[in-house]
Amino acid sequence: MKKGYDADVVIVGGGTAGSFTAWRLAQRGYKVVVVEKHKRGIPGKHIGIFHMDEIRFAQFDIPLPEGKELIGRHETGMAWPPDGDITKTVRYTFVVMELPLFIKRLQKYAEEAGAEYLFDTQCERAMLSRDKVVGVKVTKGKETFEISAAVVVDASGVDAAVRTTLPTRLGIETDPVKPTEFLYVILQYWDDIPDKKSGKFPSGLNFYPFHKAFINPGYGDGAIVGIGQPERLELAEKIQNEFLAERFPNVKHTLTNKTWGRTPFRRPPFSLVGDGFVTVGDAAFMTKPFSGEGVTSGFTAAQIAVETIDAAIKKGDLSKSSLWPLNHRYFTDQGAKFAALFAQLPAAAELSRGDVNYLFKKDIIFSSFDFESMNRDFEVKMGIGRLISVAAKLITGRMTGGLSKEGFKALLSAMGVAGKIKKHYEAYPKNPADLPAWEKKAKKLWGEG
Ligand SMILES: Cc1cc2nc3c(=O)[nH]c(=O)nc-3n(C[C@H](O)[C@H](O)[C@H](O)COP(=O)(O)OP(=O)(O)OC[C@H]3O[C@@H](n4cnc5c(N)ncnc54)[C@H](O)[C@@H]3O)c2cc1C
Repeated sequence: MKKGYDADVVIVGGGTAGSFTAWRLAQRGYKVVVVEKHKRGIPGKHIGIFHMDEIRFAQFDIPLPEGKELIGRHETGMAWPPDGDITKTVRYTFVVMELPLFIKRLQKYAEEAGAEYLFDTQCERAMLSRDKVVGVKVTKGKETFEISAAVVVDASGVDAAVRTTLPTRLGIETDPVKPTEFLYVILQYWDDIPDKKSGKFPSGLNFYPFHKAFINPGYGDGAIVGIGQPERLELAEKIQNEFLAERFPNVKHTLTNKTWGRTPFRRPPFSLVGDGFVTVGDAAFMTKPFSGEGVTSGFTAAQIAVETIDAAIKKGDLSKSSLWPLNHRYFTDQGAKFAALFAQLPAAAELSRGDVNYLFKKDIIFSSFDFESMNRDFEVKMGIGRLISVAAKLITGRMTGGLSKEGFKALLSAMGVAGKIKKHYEAYPKNPADLPAWEKKAKKLWGEG
């Protein structure tokens, strides 16, 4: 352990990102303390069932779920147009699981590797010494105490409990997420659905991109009827009601549970590190822009964070410069792809219902290949041949009136902006000294002045 500290690493948040980070750092022999505000067993309960792409278990070397944690495994899913049934089969395996049990399992792995969890303990703020983060101040019941550490990892989810308490002079964006910058996700748990047996109500995994709605397996023969919409919870609720009234009017069912939550729906902070500080997961806005899922995309950053922290502790240098490889490795790869996708969202919102029906019908953008690539690679790699074919199809769509003028223009402009943003993130600076110039251009590309 680093001299003079209570821990090598203190992690705020014992959810998926925090527990994965704790597990891997403890395996490397570091003294890791995890501060989790809820009691054991509570994290993940507000969501219940979630799904995770099967290939990520091997990628992150996590054993597959078993027993009660495993709800189901689906090798294909269906993407649906706004109208009609020209569905696209998505050949990409998802595992449906119990989130609280998955989090418990990650916590168990971390504890077995030597990490210590302080449950029911709330982090109040970061402790600073000469502009370096040196630990956290926490409260358990009426008791307040300090935990000093060589590195503090903020994995506290959307509210970013540590990052938002830092002074701006540390060089990290400290603003909390605005209410309009969340994706509001509503889950309705339905049971006793006779139409499911007759095939009138869908089984398996079903995604409705125009409405940002989904119908996935629930417990037993039940289903999860969900939606994720930006801006306001009320808007998400309204669109979900409209979607259900239109697509599935009068479907008999028992509503056994209704829950909702928020995921970040904005670009990540320009830096994920400061002196003695690192942030990962929802706290650093790392959810997939096309679905709002954030478990495995958080693992990607957590894995890099672990390797970066390990190297920095070995060097005996926990400065921002020493932790910078997390920024560079994250933003030049997954971060660049997510930034490009995020830049395309305004165009997606411009597409009319007719546009999306047309794109589905003509296999443009909304093709099985596109959906599979997006899930697997977070981008649709286009060789010159495919690029020309997509461009030709879009032009034909406009000329024949299948695509609206607004939709066509929005798509072309989004492709241009997304390309520029991706390239800019791929050129993320290798040194902190070059960040201000990079950030200035990034802000311009994001339209932030
Ligand atoms: C309804 C819904 C459905 C979803 N479905 C999926 C899905 O199917 N697949 C998928 O990949 N993603 C899904 N997501 C997104 C996913 O849940 C998140 O991206 C993921 O859980 C983020 O993990 P995290 O560890 O960064 O944050 P969290 O899971 O939010 O964990 C943060 C932890 O920090 C703790 N904490 C917060 N503040 C403090 C503090 N001050 N002190 C101490 N502890 C603190 C919290 O209690 C929490 O346990 C869904 C989200 C919602 C809302």
